[in-house]
Amino acid sequence: MLKIQADDLALFGGKPAFDNVLHVGRPNIGNRQVFADRLDDILDRRRLTNEGRYVREFEERIAELIGVRHCIAMCNGTMALGIAIRALELSGEVIVPAFTFIATAQALQWQGITPVFCDIDPITYNLDPRCLEQAITPRTTGIIPVHVFGRSCDVSALTEITARRGVKLLFDSAHAFGCSFQGRMIGNFGEAEVFSFHATKFINSLEGGAVVTNNAHLAAKMRLMKNFGFTDYDRVDHLGTNGKMNEVSAAMGLTNLESIDEFISINRRNHKQYQEELAGLPGIRIALYDDTEQCNYQYVVLEMDQRISGISRDDLMKALQAENVLARRYFFPGCHRMEPYRSRFPDLVLPETERIAERVLCLPTGSEVTAEQITVICNMIGLILRNGVKVSHRVGTDLTLASPLGAR
Ligand SMILES: *Cc1c(COP(=O)(O)O)cnc(C)c1O
Repeated sequence: MLKIQADDLALFGGKPAFDNVLHVGRPNIGNRQVFADRLDDILDRRRLTNEGRYVREFEERIAELIGVRHCIAMCNGTMALGIAIRALELSGEVIVPAFTFIATAQALQWQGITPVFCDIDPITYNLDPRCLEQAITPRTTGIIPVHVFGRSCDVSALTEITARRGVKLLFDSAHAFGCSFQGRMIGNFGEAEVFSFHATKFINSLEGGAVVTNNAHLAAKMRLMKNFGFTDYDRVDHLGTNGKMNEVSAAMGLTNLESIDEFISINRRNHKQYQEELAGLPGIRIALYDDTEQCNYQYVVLEMDQRISGISRDDLMKALQAENVLARRYFFPGCHRMEPYRSRFPDLVLPETERIAERVLCLPTGSEVTAEQITVICNMIGLILRNGVKVSHRVGTDLTLASPLGAR
């Protein structure tokens, strides 16, 4: 039902627009029957993990789709990052953006490597090559840029700088599965790229991740490392850990991959609808994708300028949450403002990162959100903005709205 006046808003006693919570990143799920059949097959074979046929098939399908030589599936994206970092022998300092999911930094710090946070380009939200150049020190061994929201980094500039300065380039491509840079699929750049197949990501394998690379030596090393370093029965030849993907995850990943075109078209349609229905609202814009590239359109990111919209991003978020629209502040407040980094770099100021982190809000999309629901959400955003002063006052005085939500 569309809301017409301020009193219709849940904040002012109206019925919440949705009975059930609408989440950002509700999983995309492909053909259930196909998944169920694969699950039966796995149970029949009693091969649950350790390089089973589904993991191998998942790896082959990914490599094919991206046009990359090697794909090593792993249990999650963070482990995949960690193994790639170790295989590349990064140490000392590694430069990363602060405008990313915390895992990018944690994967480094976990191994005693210092993440050095760099500012972003305010249009693309990606690591700014100019800041990067200044952040490189004699201790820098590599950089891990992130294709934030699936919009590719300035790969050419990053490749040029890292080659010239003699540091390694590893991409955190957790958001960018199925996306391209200048017509070439993400996954082919740098020394290697890392995908996440977490439930909330564009393609999910329940939990999961992968490293892709065109470097055979690096691929072989990572294959050993993700399986404890085993080269044969009773024989270990390398430092390793347990980063293996299991068969059920691979079956889910494969099944979802088979629906990739459908997921893209749903996401794209949703994105376009938000863009059209929010057009003209003051101080608000939807971050655009480059339609000349391959995009997964997985994120609908609203960016707002409070001076024009008349209401803060946080107040809009709280008003939406009262309606059961669980809009999320990705990525607030920036990795450098979270522990253990905040204490280690108390004086670090990243102006663009902080400005953007104050302005963005991710809205629900994916195969579980209907066109009607998007219309209701856009209608409410308009209503909230038109009643900005009243909404801000209400939010500011309602203690039950004080703290939004937990982890991730
Ligand atoms: C999700 C994500 C990760 C971590 O992936 P998991 O599979 O959840 O471990 C890393 N980096 C970014 C940018 C992510 O969004």
